[in-house]
Amino acid sequence: MCGIFGVFGAPHAAEVTHLGLYSLQHRGQESAGIVAVDGDSVARGTRKMGLVGEGLSAVEMEKLEGQIAIGHTRYSTAGSSTLDNAQPVLARFKGGHIALAHNGNLTNAVELRSRLEDSGSIFASTMDSEVIVHRLARAEQALPEYMLAEALHGVDGAYCLVVVIGETLLAARDPRGWRPLVVGALGDGFVFASETCALDIVGATLLREVLPGEIIAVDRDGMRSFQSETPRQLHRCVFEHVYFARPDSYVFGGSVDRARRALGHRLADEQPAPTADLVFAVPDSSNAAALGFAERSGLPLELALIRNHYVGRTFIQPTQAGRDAKVKVKFNPVREVLAGKSVVMVDDSIVRGTTTRGLVALVRGAGAREVHMRVSSPPIVGPCYYGIDTPNRDELIAANHSIEEIAALIGVDTLGYLSLDGMLNAVPGGPDGFCDACFSGNYPTPAPSSLVKMRRAPRETAGV
Ligand code: AMP
Repeated sequence: MCGIFGVFGAPHAAEVTHLGLYSLQHRGQESAGIVAVDGDSVARGTRKMGLVGEGLSAVEMEKLEGQIAIGHTRYSTAGSSTLDNAQPVLARFKGGHIALAHNGNLTNAVELRSRLEDSGSIFASTMDSEVIVHRLARAEQALPEYMLAEALHGVDGAYCLVVVIGETLLAARDPRGWRPLVVGALGDGFVFASETCALDIVGATLLREVLPGEIIAVDRDGMRSFQSETPRQLHRCVFEHVYFARPDSYVFGGSVDRARRALGHRLADEQPAPTADLVFAVPDSSNAAALGFAERSGLPLELALIRNHYVGRTFIQPTQAGRDAKVKVKFNPVREVLAGKSVVMVDDSIVRGTTTRGLVALVRGAGAREVHMRVSSPPIVGPCYYGIDTPNRDELIAANHSIEEIAALIGVDTLGYLSLDGMLNAVPGGPDGFCDACFSGNYPTPAPSSLVKMRRAPRETAGV
């Protein structure tokens, strides 16, 4: 998964983008990059492995002159985690430069890439996104927005893009609307961002969502947009509301905080824990859901797990051994709260079960008498092909075990998941128009023909 940001018409566009990327850090922590275009149409870029604050220095931003910039935070789901695969991609072609930043996963990238390779294209990375850059360079259309429309025609799967061609900033969203993308106003300029929290940090005002299948172009003449692909049945990723987006964002037109609270309310209705003394969240992604559970159940909400904020998300670790160790590095239980108590532990999802098992052991070690785990989404039974980093089916605990077995494996007294209907009815704008493929197995596209090639190479071999 990734975060994307673009700005047109700001005096120091790279600095604005740098700030914006700080707010999109949760969407990707492997690498970050910015490309800016100056008044002479010279494009300059920087891409670094690591966090925005580690890799991209303020001094470096000063060198990236110009009023147009795009940026990217990366969390690899297609292509391995190396600097070659960091974005934005910056390429030169017959018409000048193309810079591109992508959030999502293309499901037919392998086929598109091999067709391009058959006709002589050479790729500099293993990212699916580079396919779009090659298609842009080959487009027959002359106007940037039509070039992009031509390049995207026949590209399937999930994409939100910010692209700079020459001195035009473009934004595009796939016709099923999988990933969020908004446009805001900043002075006389415009800003695009994966989430509204990135508009807030730069002082931009939200105008609207980029519509599914829409391309928006911004240049010296202002902003114009058109529907480049006929919108298809909406498949907005419900996991953005469940886990991925920040609670201070509005995604798909709805508040993530309200969505998570409503998920917590439903969870308390569907899976009560009548014998419990208190409820607590696995911070931070389930804070709002645990609050919702507490509100509805009448149980007190306690802070039973303290999260170390200087450690990244657990999945960042390349190996399983690293992930296990990281649970302890990341969380510590508060004995004072837990000792002798029957507790409800709320989390937003169980993926592999590794984190959860580790957490339950910590909570029991701190003296909890009973542990009732409540999950504010249904069991994850299939991988995501559209940009969320869920592993392959054989690693997904719920794809291979019954709920009773999972309860035993993670070591809880009871385990209750929210139902699929409960989740879809709780999120704003539901129950229709969401992609729930990882929960339901209803995939709206054919599975990618070569899953191994499309998804990231195993981390162990990827040199993360
Ligand atoms: P585990 O029990 O090891 O599957 O880990 C579940 C935890 O990982 C939960 O706390 C989730 O909030 C978090 N999580 C869920 N999906 C992802 C993801 N795609 N990437 C990183 N963390 C995730």
